[in-house]
Amino acid sequence: MRKKIVAGNWKMNKLLPEAVSLVKDIGSLLVSTKMPQNTRLIVCPPNLYLSPLNNFLEIANLSEKISIGAQNCHQETKGAYTGEVSATMLAKLKIPYVILGHSERRAYFGEDSALLKAKVDQALTAGLQVIFCCGEKLDVREAGTHFELVGQQLQESLFHLSADDMKKVIIAYEPVWAIGTGVTASPAQAEEMHKHIRQLVAKKYDKSLADNTTILYGGSCKPTNADALFACPNVDGGLIGGASLKAASFVAILEALIKS
Ligand code: PEP
Repeated sequence: MRKKIVAGNWKMNKLLPEAVSLVKDIGSLLVSTKMPQNTRLIVCPPNLYLSPLNNFLEIANLSEKISIGAQNCHQETKGAYTGEVSATMLAKLKIPYVILGHSERRAYFGEDSALLKAKVDQALTAGLQVIFCCGEKLDVREAGTHFELVGQQLQESLFHLSADDMKKVIIAYEPVWAIGTGVTASPAQAEEMHKHIRQLVAKKYDKSLADNTTILYGGSCKPTNADALFACPNVDGGLIGGASLKAASFVAILEALIKS
């Protein structure tokens, strides 16, 4: 059975005490939440907080309910790459997940498909699970070539993987025009793209692998639209930006997923 996931991408937000408070508040709101076996809640804070928060989750007995992920990793194992963090470093700190290919990394840090392919390989070799973001900009959607673009992103950065490695990849469809804009893809738009992605995975690998691949939606997902998005058969949860910065909205989105 494929996993259902709500993952919060905190980006470059929160000072450490605020980050700890947020995780505490999420934990408090989850006290009475029964997490189904196939459901995960992940928070992806800035790198500096990965270890403190991971330790906090263990001490507070919350690691059963909340997991930690990184927002990025470098494409090399080690070396003279000032300011960078390797996938192995993350894995050794028991960080299980890493987001790769976020549109902000593509836009502001020049990350292209070839670089992301190398990052995906590093992350999987280190034993991390990858949350791989794909999605089109507005001009591509308006030109009607969004299916091709997303297919190309998957082809160029993921489809070289073996089936065993592909099983460790979570795909996040994040239309760039919906990220941080308040404009959400309609459930129909999300569903048709998720279905398309699943079909591409089935074509490249097989139906069973595709059926077990978790495909998240990201882009202005909030408590008011999460029910409708998660009701779509091919939407297995969300990658959440803004609404993950407040415990109440983040947990409400998780509750919507559990109900779906
Ligand atoms: C994101 O940045 O991955 C994201 C989905 O942001 P938001 O929810 O704020 O649109």
